[in-house]
Amino acid sequence: MSQPFLPFARPDIDEATIAGVVEVLRSGWITTGPHVGRFEQALSSYVGGRTVRVLTSATAALEVALLVAGIKPGDEVILPALSFVASANVILRIGARPVFVDVDLKTRNIDLDQVEAAITRRTRAIMPVHFAGLPVDLDRLYSLARAHQLRVIEDAAHAIGTYWRGKPVGAVGDLVCFSFHPNKVITTIEGGAIVLTNADETAAVELHRFHGLRRDADGESEVYLAGGKYNLSDVSARIGLGQLARLSEFVSRRQHLAWRYLDALADWTVGDLPARGDDGHSWHLMTVLLPFEELGMTRPGFVRAMRDAGIGIGVHYSSMPSFELYRKLGYDHRAYPNADRIGRETVSLPLFPAMTDLDVDRVCDTLRRLAKPARASVSAAPVRAAERAAAAAKR
Ligand SMILES: *Cc1c(COP(=O)(O)O)cnc(C)c1O
Repeated sequence: MSQPFLPFARPDIDEATIAGVVEVLRSGWITTGPHVGRFEQALSSYVGGRTVRVLTSATAALEVALLVAGIKPGDEVILPALSFVASANVILRIGARPVFVDVDLKTRNIDLDQVEAAITRRTRAIMPVHFAGLPVDLDRLYSLARAHQLRVIEDAAHAIGTYWRGKPVGAVGDLVCFSFHPNKVITTIEGGAIVLTNADETAAVELHRFHGLRRDADGESEVYLAGGKYNLSDVSARIGLGQLARLSEFVSRRQHLAWRYLDALADWTVGDLPARGDDGHSWHLMTVLLPFEELGMTRPGFVRAMRDAGIGIGVHYSSMPSFELYRKLGYDHRAYPNADRIGRETVSLPLFPAMTDLDVDRVCDTLRRLAKPARASVSAAPVRAAERAAAAAKR
């Protein structure tokens, strides 16, 4: 192999940040401390001055957000059928019921036309996902939420760096949760954050993330609830500060690479490309749908072939109701046909800021070479290829 292996994601941590981490390690204080406060302040500035609290993951942030929003056992929370499974799991963990709504095939975001029909007397919240960093229509979402008096907990795990009508996701709305997992747009190794709207809920987050415990000015402790242990370390916060300073640089580079992919594949009729969005798209992921059955191949076989050609491929995601846990709870994944199809056909192409334009071209060439009908099983493929070509011509 002449070319180095190209992973589907790779964090970009600069030398100044590494030196900053070394300083924290040498300082004698490595867990939650001054860097956490600075990181929260910097995130707050980014979202236009709203209050932000950081936690050890977006999963923890979403679970705590549901708790502080007052979602109770038996309540229903509406969410898209397509997301990372943490989105639905956190609802189950607090005893509430996930109510799935199908997604749009092109945007991969929750289909807002179908939300109203999913609202019942027990619905308390909507948890949209800004899939791959493409924003959900926040105007429509919040007018729906207002009309039905629902809380909104935005799963913005993909959407740090996403803008809606000129403002960053998190600058408007109800509770908004970010992820800083290494595959996301910026990282703290593991980490997450909640954007908050009032002092009571901020105080509740602080309790939930640290044993329900608060110390008074004399250093005496009182415990108010059985909280978790989700406080971020100063080492992670220091990484986050270095990353946040480069967020717009990362997003510009991701947009450039994503648009290069879309242009390079514009005449390709085998796969379905995601929505292009506008310059508010953070491009956390570049996901393409491949009709594996028609092509006479399996996804694992395709992923192996790409890996053998030096290219890493991700899968984001299976339809959540298709997992055993959810099937056993009585969900039927066939009720969400778009999420179901995306779950079977999606692959994520490499996309990270340090990639070169030539890397994109290499991925596209390899994709065209490996994702095409096997000679023996071309039966249905030409028909669908013709349909796709007609659809592409209309775009
Ligand atoms: C990654 C992700 C999460 C969980 O984030 P962590 O920080 O890893 O806990 C939640 N929702 C979505 C949509 C994600 O992609």
